[in-house]
Amino acid sequence: MARRTSRRAARSRAVLCLIGLFVLAGFPAGAQPAAPAVVVNGQPLQLDPPPAFRGGVLLAPLQGLLEPYAATGGWDPLTRTAQVVGPRGSRVVFRAGDRVAVVDGQTRLLPVPPEVAAGKLLVPVEFLFRALGAWVKWEEVSSTLHVASQILRLVLDRAPGGLRVQVEATGPVQVRTAQLSQPDRLVVDLVNAASRIETREVTLGEFGVRRVRVAQFQVKPYVTRVVLDLDAPVDVEVAPSASDVVLWLRPRPGAVASGPSPPAATPMPTSSPEAVATPSPSASPPAPSPALAPSSVSPDAPKILEVTVERQVGRLRVVVQGDRPLHYHARELPDPDRLVLDIPGVFVPVKQELAVGGPVEVVRAAQFQTDPDVARVVVQWQMRTRYEVVLEDGGSRLVVVVDDVPSQPPRGGHVVAIDPGHGGKDPGAIGATGLVEKDVVLDVGLRLRDALRRQGVRAVMTRESDVFVDLADRVPIALRAGATVFVSVHANATTRGVIRGVETYYLKPDSVLLATLIQEELGRSVGIPDRGIRTANFKVLRDSPIPAVLVEVGYLTNLEDEALLRTPAFRQRVAEAIGRGVVRFISQVPALQP
Ligand SMILES: [Zn+2]
Repeated sequence: MARRTSRRAARSRAVLCLIGLFVLAGFPAGAQPAAPAVVVNGQPLQLDPPPAFRGGVLLAPLQGLLEPYAATGGWDPLTRTAQVVGPRGSRVVFRAGDRVAVVDGQTRLLPVPPEVAAGKLLVPVEFLFRALGAWVKWEEVSSTLHVASQILRLVLDRAPGGLRVQVEATGPVQVRTAQLSQPDRLVVDLVNAASRIETREVTLGEFGVRRVRVAQFQVKPYVTRVVLDLDAPVDVEVAPSASDVVLWLRPRPGAVASGPSPPAATPMPTSSPEAVATPSPSASPPAPSPALAPSSVSPDAPKILEVTVERQVGRLRVVVQGDRPLHYHARELPDPDRLVLDIPGVFVPVKQELAVGGPVEVVRAAQFQTDPDVARVVVQWQMRTRYEVVLEDGGSRLVVVVDDVPSQPPRGGHVVAIDPGHGGKDPGAIGATGLVEKDVVLDVGLRLRDALRRQGVRAVMTRESDVFVDLADRVPIALRAGATVFVSVHANATTRGVIRGVETYYLKPDSVLLATLIQEELGRSVGIPDRGIRTANFKVLRDSPIPAVLVEVGYLTNLEDEALLRTPAFRQRVAEAIGRGVVRFISQVPALQP
């Protein structure tokens, strides 16, 4: 999907976390210590018998604790055990009188043993909710144990016609959405949810969503706020489930970026810090307008006539041609790496986007601001390289001259065959929440191919789309294409959901170095457990007369690995790491002559 032009990337960053409302509930001084209470996701629980301390640990009847957190399970008086299944599949087993509980297959010591009272099992409340991944806090002043779902991760994914945003939470989350304008943004409040998301801000630049920000907007009750900065209003569909919430964002047909604000699905509180963080319309710079049609610009208004890219030997020229002398202000921005040139006093009559290739991925030109006019040209790097900004032709031509390293000749005559596992009628492994192996490994494989080609390595694929390729045909396909190295890409599965990480398999001695180098790069950079190199009698490895490995890029049966594998960013990291391993191998080992 083509990237959309960012018309107004520069805006003061709304640092919501700093101005989140830390409303302190008032408790009258000198009040009697209250009986202990448990509040789950904002809901005070009516428990019978009521929660009580045993040896300083709060115990409460299991039965009343589960449903508010969307957990299931029950107490079996015959075996004196209780099994609890959390909304994300965590399992906790308690036994009356036993100091040991089993959490996801592992034994854990309890602060006090569960006990039976009036035919009900009383369990340590804090232990239970922590085992289910909840945020738990004891509040002394009100003698209340507060329990809230935690937001683990936001997964942004391409979906047919739009963007899919999956909010992964440890427990139930209430969702409120509102669309605000000037600038266009979608505010998603996750109520009764504490944020455990480390990345506070992601630049997207796709599907009309420029940026996604996450902040703990409020405590008591906990509200995690996700703000999506939009190019134009979108249609939003919310599909909540036991824990995850999925939002579908689709561009609204005929939406205009500066159009009126659509009615909010649910009104946001007027004291919203988002409203505070964004300057009021009178104080803010004028809202940027969409790209203007040429007819709406007076013929003699200063303007950008054209943006072009010229290729010369060893360099690229991004040429911004004005109809009069131009001034500019240049700066570098990260994520993605780009050079931003703001050109005051001119119009861009037609928004432009040029896919370039080489050191520059794309060049975009658009009106960033009107009244006063500022045109913006963005040069987005594919590889950071040397460049220079110069004015030519009396200042009316602004040129970014970029060193273009000629692509290297194929390395040592090597041809790398990339073999994405499965395909077509064979889906491969199915992830814990439904991610399908054949899709993930194809995407990783294509990214690996591109990463290798960018480095001048010839790469071929055993499949480039969702088609079935017989296992017996894979190595022959590679050999017919002249392959000298064979890399099969798979994602793993196991019945034990806790297992996660990357591993590389080889079979024959000529493949040990290849496996080692790939695994070393994976272990160093993808950020999930390094499970090392292994041997296995896989058919493709057995069949291959050339160095061959099979990389398992993660465990689909592990929730964390699966969630990462859903993200383009992680797949890219994996592909690049494999690519670096392959390049190290082929620079050390000459290709076998046929
Ligand atoms: Zn597989």
